Amino acid sequence: MATPVTLIPGDGIGPSITRATVRLLEAAGADIVWEEQLAGMAAVERYGDPIPDETLESIKRTRVALKGPLETPVGEGYRSINVALRTSFDLYANVRPACSIQPGGRYQNLDIVLIRENTEGLYVGIEHYIRVGDDPRAAAESTAIITRAGSDRIARYAFEYAVNHDRRKVTLVHKANILKFSQGLFLDVGRAVAREYAGRVEFEERIVDAMAMNLVLHPERFDVIVTTNLFGDILSDQISGLVGGLGLAPGANIGSHAAIFEAVHGTAPDIAGKGIANPGALMLAACMMLEHLGDVERGRRVRRGIESTIREGRTVTGDLGGSATTEQFTDAIIGKL
Ligand code: NAD
Repeated sequence: MATPVTLIPGDGIGPSITRATVRLLEAAGADIVWEEQLAGMAAVERYGDPIPDETLESIKRTRVALKGPLETPVGEGYRSINVALRTSFDLYANVRPACSIQPGGRYQNLDIVLIRENTEGLYVGIEHYIRVGDDPRAAAESTAIITRAGSDRIARYAFEYAVNHDRRKVTLVHKANILKFSQGLFLDVGRAVAREYAGRVEFEERIVDAMAMNLVLHPERFDVIVTTNLFGDILSDQISGLVGGLGLAPGANIGSHAAIFEAVHGTAPDIAGKGIANPGALMLAACMMLEHLGDVERGRRVRRGIESTIREGRTVTGDLGGSATTEQFTDAIIGKL
C-alpha cells in the first residue's frame, strides 16, 4: 500500500525543488501518496497563518513530511515555523550528514554526520527585554534550557545511530568549561551514555571553539558528532561548507512520533523564480526519508544517481559549477536511475 507523506513546498525556491524531488522519487518508483500542505509565507498569503491547523493535522496523520525551506522574518513578525514544527512534534534529533560528493573540493572522502539536539538550549524562545530608566530595551535576556532527559535521548540517539550505521566514533561537542551548569549537564549525561556503548563505539569530547578549528584542519578525524542546539546549528553549516556548501546538505528532524525531512539551506530569495536552484539537498533529504520509511535500497539507488550526476559534472546547476536548470539537472539524475 502506498505510504502517505505530507509535502510542504515552502517559499522561495521551495516549490521548484520540491517539484523536482517528487518527480525524481516518482521516476524511481517510490510508492508514496503526497498530501500537499502549506506553511510559511505561502500559508500566510492564503490563510493568514504561517502554520495552518490543516498542515499540522496532516503531519500528525502521516507522521512523515518532506518540506521545502520556509521564510522567517528577521527580528520581528512570526517566530520560526521550523522551530515551531520541531517543538510541536518533539522532533528532538536533527540529523545532518555531510559527504564529499563533488571532486576537486577542498576535502575528499569526508563522511560526517552531525546530530543536533533540536528542542532545548537557547532555542526554547524564553527571551525578554529589560527596561532601565526610560529605555525599554536597555538589555535583553535569553534563557538556555538543558534537561537530563533531553540530553540523554539525544546522546542515546547518536550512539544508536553510530551502531546502526556501522560508525566507529561519537564526538560530543560542548562548552562546559564556561557554561558549567547547562553545558556541564549535557556533557555529564553524554559521558554516562557513552559508557554503555564502550567497546562498541569510541567516544571523545571537544570544546566547541576547538572543534570549529579542528573541523577545518582535520575534518577526516570526525565521524558522528553530537551537540546542543545552537552549536549544532552553527557546526552543521560549517560541515556542509567543508563538502561544497548548502546546495548539497540534507537534514532530517526526527522524533518518536514524526519525522520531517528538508534541505539545510533556506529559500534563496536571490535566485527564486529563475529555475536555477539546485534541488540536490532536498533530494538527498528525500533519500534519508526513503531509508526512514524502510525503502532502503531505493534510497541508495536514488542517492547513487544524484552522486554520479554530480561527479560527472556535465549537467549540474550553477552553484555546482554548471549551467543546467533545476529541471535539466533532475532529468539527468532520472536518466541515471
Ligand atoms: P539561503 O540558504 O536561502 O541562501 C544563502 C545563499 O545560498 C544564497 O546566495 C542562495 O542563492 C544560495 N542557495 C541556497 N540554497 C540554494 C540552492 N538550493 N541552490 C542554489 N543556491 C542556493 O539563506 P538566507 O538567504 O540566509 O535565508 C533566506 C530565507 O530562508 C530566510 O527567510 C531564512 O529564514 C530562510 N531559511 C529557512 C530555512 C528552512 O526552512 N529550513 C533554513 C535556512 C534559512
